[in-house]
Amino acid sequence: MLYLVEHFYSIQGEGRYTGTPSLFFRFGGCNMKCEGFSCKEVASDGVEVLGCDTVYAVNKEHFSHNWVQINSSKELLNILEFYELPHAVDIVLTGGEPLIYANDEIFIEFLTKLHKRGHSITFETNGSLHVDFEKYPIYKKFIFALSVKLSNSNEPLNKRVRGDVIFNIASHAKDSFFKFSIDAESIDLGLEEEISNIIMHSPKTKVYCMPLGGSKKEVEANTEPLIEFCKSKGYNFSDRLHIRVWDQNKGV
Ligand code: SF4
Repeated sequence: MLYLVEHFYSIQGEGRYTGTPSLFFRFGGCNMKCEGFSCKEVASDGVEVLGCDTVYAVNKEHFSHNWVQINSSKELLNILEFYELPHAVDIVLTGGEPLIYANDEIFIEFLTKLHKRGHSITFETNGSLHVDFEKYPIYKKFIFALSVKLSNSNEPLNKRVRGDVIFNIASHAKDSFFKFSIDAESIDLGLEEEISNIIMHSPKTKVYCMPLGGSKKEVEANTEPLIEFCKSKGYNFSDRLHIRVWDQNKGV
């Protein structure tokens, strides 16, 4: 069974395909919490929940009453009819962590049908969950934005960095790239080594660094130090257009 949090048609706001018109599906649930990102959201029961900028798509206990339970691939495919979309528009599957559903039959059927219709599909993933490319070769057709978590997430190292998973995805996917969320403070705290220890699992995969933050103000504060960091390391800077333009991460 799948949970869908929201869907929206927008432009890709970050990473290698920034600016590309894309239909987003945000799935509910994640294998991490990332409380280190210190974003707070008040749930309808009045509880202030700590996590990442999409904590409302991560925390099942306080937010799942807003998630929609999906029982067939048709329910997901019907969503495409809600919008006036260009032919075979790009699809982005995000979360939470969409790959918690990687072996789900409904999910596989949905992906297969989207691919047959000619859509380009990108997974926004934390890169910590195994993808079975042998059993489900359809995954070889997709793009993976590997947003591997750094120590600023407060997740344990052995959970957030899985070299075997990174190598497997980067070796089999149609395309992949690393995408890191970085704040100005972390740049001075051994971040360079952390990133090196992650990207060594797939050294040819391109690196994009984007400013950490759930609000325009936070993103702006982290932008200039991050640009200097990218210049010094030869990494690509990625903006977070959706936050800079709309000052939020929900439904835009
Ligand atoms: S892995 Fe991503 S979606 Fe999950 S809690 Fe961390 S930042 Fe949020």
